[in-house]
Amino acid sequence: MRVAIFSATGYERSFLDAANARHGHELIYFEPALRRNTARLAAGFPAVCGFVHDDFSAGVMLELQRQKTRLIALRCAGFNNVDVEAAEQLGMTVLRVPAYSPAAVAEHTVALLLALNRKIHRAYLRVREGNFALDGLLGFELAGKTVGIIGTGKIGLGVGRILVGFGCTLLGYDPHPGAAFTAAGGRYVPLDDLFAQADILSLHLPLTPDTRHLIDAEALGRMKRGVVLLNTSRGELLDTRAVIAALKSGKVGLLGLDVYEEETNLFFRNLSDTVIQDDVFARLLTFPNVLITSHQAFFTEEALSRIAETTMENLTQFEEGNIVAENEVRASQHFHG
Ligand code: NAD
Repeated sequence: MRVAIFSATGYERSFLDAANARHGHELIYFEPALRRNTARLAAGFPAVCGFVHDDFSAGVMLELQRQKTRLIALRCAGFNNVDVEAAEQLGMTVLRVPAYSPAAVAEHTVALLLALNRKIHRAYLRVREGNFALDGLLGFELAGKTVGIIGTGKIGLGVGRILVGFGCTLLGYDPHPGAAFTAAGGRYVPLDDLFAQADILSLHLPLTPDTRHLIDAEALGRMKRGVVLLNTSRGELLDTRAVIAALKSGKVGLLGLDVYEEETNLFFRNLSDTVIQDDVFARLLTFPNVLITSHQAFFTEEALSRIAETTMENLTQFEEGNIVAENEVRASQHFHG
């Protein structure tokens, strides 16, 4: 099948080409992200392949459908950038990679936590400058601390398992509790209790209209003073302005982010020669107790290899009329991972 691959980066191509060796699809790589003004690149392609910042809103998909595209193949798990209802109305199939490497994201979440807590990001710079003083680098031990996981699916469970290994007490909140979380030593509690008890709070739930700004001023008000907040899921789960206020007041002690509400205009690009226009993001960068990575939690060799393999399998299975139900995104699912 001819596939238009948007937001194609150099590092992804080798993985996609290698995975395609068994499938023989015709992969055409386009560096730009899919937008209204780039959709024309996909004219005549039956399949369009995109990533987290490609725009699959109703207008763009109507354009794609007019150009004869029938399949949207996402190279990611999340699909909050896809208007699934519109896709269904237009008769387009949407496939994704539901689980490629939960360990990649779980390990990155813990990396943020450890770096923040032991001030590794600050120590790295200081030592390079010949500053070996310890003031400002005081950390605390994770052993004995209470960790609250919101969303105990694949990634949340992975984070929980690692932190139990560090000697943490594990609490969870999820509308669909899982036996594996309890077996790992976790205990489910109501969300309010989790807010009240957690020393470290980590978000691993999907972004939906219901979960947008789950962490707002009110939720922050119910947390412990000095709470460590980690978000490697989706930026809009946090009300960033409220979090900035909580950082200023000391309510939030440490903040680790791999995602940001307005990341589409920033992440995955080298903007080092430009002036950052986003004042909220710029403010976040000024805090010594905030560590931000640019949506790289998924970015491991293992994950890229699995994403490529599942994407190629999705394309082949669509061609053969043999779709794996778990990989298909349907409007009735009502969540946006
Ligand atoms: P998953 O589907 O296995 O788990 C999500 C869990 O969240 C489920 O158990 C679900 O019941 C729960 N949930 C749904 N609504 C909830 C709510 N209102 N409150 C609490 N829990 C709720 O998904 P996963 O693979 O663990 O991924 C979790 C999130 O990680 C995804 O939604 C995605 O946004 C994000 N992600 C980020 C990266 C990255 O590179 N930063 C990569 C992959 C996934």
